[in-house]
Amino acid sequence: MKKILLGLLLGLSCLGAAACSASSGDAGTGGESTAMAESTAMAESSTGTESGAAASMESSQAGEGLMMSSPGKLVMATNAEFPPYEYREGSEIVGIDVDLANEIAARMGLELVIEEMNFDSIIPHVSSGKSDVGIAGMTMTEDRLKNIDFSVPYTVANQVVIVKEDSEITHPDGLTGKIIGVQQGTVGDIFASDIEGASVERYLKGFEAVLALTQGKVDAVIIDNEPAKVFVSETTGIKILEEAFAVEEYAIAIKKGNTALVEEINAIITELKADGTMDAIVEKYIKAE
Ligand code: GLN
Repeated sequence: MKKILLGLLLGLSCLGAAACSASSGDAGTGGESTAMAESTAMAESSTGTESGAAASMESSQAGEGLMMSSPGKLVMATNAEFPPYEYREGSEIVGIDVDLANEIAARMGLELVIEEMNFDSIIPHVSSGKSDVGIAGMTMTEDRLKNIDFSVPYTVANQVVIVKEDSEITHPDGLTGKIIGVQQGTVGDIFASDIEGASVERYLKGFEAVLALTQGKVDAVIIDNEPAKVFVSETTGIKILEEAFAVEEYAIAIKKGNTALVEEINAIITELKADGTMDAIVEKYIKAE
């Protein structure tokens, strides 16, 4: 595997810690920042009703010391373009992350509210306090830790490469100098931007990058493994390279310094893993191979 594992390493370093937050030592690792679109808030298509007043309201309804963006609610920022973690079934947003969020909300005695937006708007939303949590198959990275805290990880994932079935690219090493399609602001975007001589085409939706591949507009797509499997199964003439590009971990984004919420959510994630709920949620959406 070509690159190891910023997320995984970060995850390991977070084990046992109440909150995974950036230490001052992270400040020098800015290699990714040009590609990180989090700092550039995009136009949003939020489906929720939010107001400045609601966004700034703080309550401790869900427990001592907890600050929620809206009383009695757990507001989740996500981008429903990422099956099987979050996607639309009719008008409803469903998926692993939605079930996970529902479990967390239920165990906190809160009602889940989902706010949909572009992926690279999620971190600005959470860090400005408009949403309580960003749950969107979000990889833990050092760069993101500068703007938000992460819960403990809830799953492990891979970045993979999708190419046309007859592509001359047979290994992630073959991406040098190629045109690579990515979803804007994702880890795939960061990795692609680091590949020598490669040019990066950014799309708001992962599936649009896959479509561009089928149309010959890009040579490859770097994207997370589970959405890759879904997109490839829905599209003829493309495949996933056997060798993954990187291994990483997904965690929940929480406003920096909201340690009480991080601790509460960490305790619930630990519980969900221990009591089998997390496995059951994953198995509902990802069939064992
Ligand atoms: N795991 C990737 C990231 O965090 C992609 C997430 C997504 O597109 N929802 O950048």
